[in-house]
Amino acid sequence: MKFGSSGIRGIVNTEITSESVLCIGRAVGSEYHDVVVGRDPRTSSEMIECAAISGLLSMGCQVTRVGMVATPTLAYAARNHDCGIMITASHNPPEYAGIKLFNPDGMAFDSGQQESIERSIDGSDFRLTSWDGIHPVRTDKNAVSDHISMILSGIRIEKQMLVVVDCGCGAASLTTPYLLRELGCDVITLNSQPDGFFPGRSSEPKEEHLAPLCSVVRDVHADIGIAHDGDADRMVAVDDTGRFVSNDRLLAFFGMREAERSMVVPVDTSMLIDAVLPGVTITRTRVGDVYVAEAIKRIGADFGGEASGTWIFPKVSYCPDGIYAAARLVEMVSQEEGRFSDQISSLPTYEIKRGTLPHHGGMGGMDTMSRIEEELRTAFEFSDINTLDGVRIAFDDAWALVRPSGTEPLIRITVEGKTRDEVKRLYLQIEKIIKES
Ligand code: MG
Repeated sequence: MKFGSSGIRGIVNTEITSESVLCIGRAVGSEYHDVVVGRDPRTSSEMIECAAISGLLSMGCQVTRVGMVATPTLAYAARNHDCGIMITASHNPPEYAGIKLFNPDGMAFDSGQQESIERSIDGSDFRLTSWDGIHPVRTDKNAVSDHISMILSGIRIEKQMLVVVDCGCGAASLTTPYLLRELGCDVITLNSQPDGFFPGRSSEPKEEHLAPLCSVVRDVHADIGIAHDGDADRMVAVDDTGRFVSNDRLLAFFGMREAERSMVVPVDTSMLIDAVLPGVTITRTRVGDVYVAEAIKRIGADFGGEASGTWIFPKVSYCPDGIYAAARLVEMVSQEEGRFSDQISSLPTYEIKRGTLPHHGGMGGMDTMSRIEEELRTAFEFSDINTLDGVRIAFDDAWALVRPSGTEPLIRITVEGKTRDEVKRLYLQIEKIIKES
């Protein structure tokens, strides 16, 4: 059983079973003595939760259950415990199950912590506690209200706002609409009843899944639309004209208001960030919100995020908090002149092209990548090169990233520039290099 950058994920009863989760519970319980457990609304989550709790208890661990909550709510609850276990497969389809582990400061387990759990699962030589060392399970019914109170204490909405919220039938259904109402907003909800079948839309809040949200925002003349993924560590937005706001633009919008000195983004982030934050130090990391959070903590950055819709506000948590982000975004929009669409329209626009090419150099493609890097170094006169995650070459007003997929035999290409012609030319040049490497 291996952790990835987003914890453990797999199809339930095939890749992730009660037996395997029992072992994960035992492995966590052998290192941590006081663990809080939460779950998303998937049909499998209660089964996985029971197996994890059983494993923890068998090691003599104290277990507190917070029930169905969003991932950032569980990460916030972890502050009172040694660690937190969230049973969720995030935005994956409903047949998936997953587990993510959190430290008390909301930071997901780092690779060292995950490897330690993996080693103890592989060893499987657990020293079970004796009969009188097994504790009763505690229940904490206040995790959601504690999280909401923490957010309420730092947010003030300046004017009457009409907000449409699409929770995708995920865990935020129990939080975001209520929070926004407590903040004084008028709230219309879509897909805001928890349902593990995700009947309303895909649990991934991509533009192509949000047409109903866009049209409701337009029809009711709302000020803003908000959508979450299944476990609400992500949040995306729709402006008052019913147009999806690209996550690159949302990242810039947040960054301009949160990052005074420093901000962290992954290597695949738009150069829009550099354009709108000239005095701010931008640190680029490997792709994945865990790497962004780790870098924020390491350098003490003000803010960070990823264009997948994850926004990390270190003043509240190192866990991406889609629920806090929703409240903070509505606050920002309410505090400034004009409609949300006007506030967003002043940001510059760039052309971006993303694509993939098959490659047969094995998973991860490192040998192929060294060859590609050599060829790119020879072919281009770039101003900067970053090889943290694939190869990113930057020019004065364009950049390109070539990255092997971690899960499929593919190479991903991203090119961004000022004009469509320039982007197309650069993309074709890089595509040719990869095909010949
Ligand atoms: Mg998620």
